[in-house]
Amino acid sequence: DQPRPSADAPIALELEGVSKRYGETTAVDDVSLAVREGEFFTLVGPSGCGKTTTLRSIAGFETLSGGTIRFGGTDVTGVPPEGRDVGVVFQNYALFPHMTVAENIAYGLKFADPPGGVSDDQRVTELLELIDLEGMGDREPDQLSGGQQQRVAIARALAPGPDVLLLDEPMSALDARLRERLRLQVKEIQSELGITTIYVTHDQEEALAISDRVAVMNAGAPEQVATPREIYRRPETRFVAEFIGDNNVFEGAVRSLEGERATLEVGAETLAIDLECEVETGDTITFCVRPENLQVGAGRGASSGENATTASVESAEFLGETTRVHLEWPGQELLVRTPDPLSGDVVVGFAPEDAHVVAVDRTASS
Ligand code: ATP
Repeated sequence: DQPRPSADAPIALELEGVSKRYGETTAVDDVSLAVREGEFFTLVGPSGCGKTTTLRSIAGFETLSGGTIRFGGTDVTGVPPEGRDVGVVFQNYALFPHMTVAENIAYGLKFADPPGGVSDDQRVTELLELIDLEGMGDREPDQLSGGQQQRVAIARALAPGPDVLLLDEPMSALDARLRERLRLQVKEIQSELGITTIYVTHDQEEALAISDRVAVMNAGAPEQVATPREIYRRPETRFVAEFIGDNNVFEGAVRSLEGERATLEVGAETLAIDLECEVETGDTITFCVRPENLQVGAGRGASSGENATTASVESAEFLGETTRVHLEWPGQELLVRTPDPLSGDVVVGFAPEDAHVVAVDRTASS
């Protein structure tokens, strides 16, 4: 899981201790982040966690309550948006309806010359090609699909050749299928230009699909910043474990330790998990197991039989290639994914190495 761009790529953008308060509300709480040149970096989190305010702060639309923002090592904290060399696309940053597509893109050149010494017309042609709308420059926005309109908005933001592209939920007005298509196109445009991009979304699946790195935000600050794989496989907090993808979170006390293997008491059950971190007997551990790593079988015991316990099927959602089944397990609900329909009582188990610890609490034991 090599980071892209490489770890020695220069830092394009840096936030140091950035805070933004509105009266009593702290929208952004002491955020420090560094984004590399050419990186596709996503801020993801639930509504109100401060994603948009962070992005607006980077763009220069907010006066910070504290902290510093640097572009390529230069302090831009007090610099207004037009002095920052950023292109911004907002969720409902509508195109001008009575201008053609070409005129809309050219509007991005109103206050800046195109890069590379080309004419405005040449730049518009280049951008139409980039967003795959060659020959559609004379259309008006209402003759385009929602996805095409957002690509034009991106082209308008890119017209002056900014160093950094900022995208705030650019797909949220589109239906699911269009979003999936557009996110591939956005990713393609980004990698073709190699432009440093900060992307805001509340959609965790979109964040995983599109990004080089993801910052999962909660209550004004990132809880974890890592590659999509790392975030999914090794969430560092319970919040990240539950926000990104489906997960089953367990809490239990360590009863015994043998090398990497811990035996835990989870409710009335005894479960074995493999540890990647230091724990002591008596610690309370929070760990998670992804639904795809829970094995279910009717009656005979779950595959290898490890950590096998009984549960009963509560409900099932047919999702096409899999079915997401909600199980009633002693003390909590569990989610599993299975290709087969399930009902009644089942045996559910998981391999000890598929458990991932998100928190260790020593207070109970000390
Ligand atoms: P969403 O996904 O719903 O857009 P978000 O993660 O982008 O949410 P922000 O819009 O950054 O969150 O808002 C963070 C917090 O700051 C919220 O509690 C919000 O109500 C508050 N907030 C944002 N803008 C303002 C403002 N102009 N005045 C007062 N409070 C604000």
